[in-house]
Amino acid sequence: MTRVVDISTNVTALLGRIRAAEIRFGRKPGSVELLAVSKTHGVDAIAAARAAGIRAFGENYLQEALPKVAALPDLQWHFIGPVQSNKTRPIAERFAWVHTVERLKTAQRLSAQRPPELPPLNICIEVNISGESSKAGVAPSDLADLAQAVAALPGLQLRGLMALPAPEEEFAAQRAAFARLRSCLTSLNEQSLALDTLSMGTTDDFEAAIAEGATIVRIGTALFGPRQY
Ligand SMILES: *Cc1c(COP(=O)(O)O)cnc(C)c1O
Repeated sequence: MTRVVDISTNVTALLGRIRAAEIRFGRKPGSVELLAVSKTHGVDAIAAARAAGIRAFGENYLQEALPKVAALPDLQWHFIGPVQSNKTRPIAERFAWVHTVERLKTAQRLSAQRPPELPPLNICIEVNISGESSKAGVAPSDLADLAQAVAALPGLQLRGLMALPAPEEEFAAQRAAFARLRSCLTSLNEQSLALDTLSMGTTDDFEAAIAEGATIVRIGTALFGPRQY
């Protein structure tokens, strides 16, 4: 029971920090959405966050996620882990968002496998804004071609960009990385795309991400406590 109380306290504290950052950095109140990252945490913890008002949850590993999605199908599920191209079908069928598209082939499979009776699958392209230090994500130089191709696929709605930059201690360095993702989004929107989503910021750097225009912050530890593997 302590656990349930902790999670609801954490939700309140975190929403307060998000609102404070919106105000401090001149963002419209309510423009930043909290995505609760529930990897390694069980259905009980997720249900406690839901009871505290959270509706959107992010999972990284398909095998781990599917039983949780089946247990709590009314929630909005976001896939935020590496997408293996032979495992796209359950993602296309059960999730509302995928934040981690980095190859056209993956997007084509998600497009073909999205059930026509469901609304389009919301897509973010993951961008490697930290260069050598991160392997995941498309290089900024390849982003425009990928984005135009993904935007043209049926069954998908390209919403924006996602990044998980290398950890930085200094607030200014955190902001600099997120500013690079924001400028990628700005240039795509100058090339006739209409993207509205920047998925960036975790427990350790979400305030810097909000300062640079995050619309979704992906937070696990500050909500659910440390992960045990
Ligand atoms: C685990 C994870 C998060 C959450 O990280 P915390 O530090 O626990 O807030 C966010 N985004 C991605 C892609 C993750 O894998």
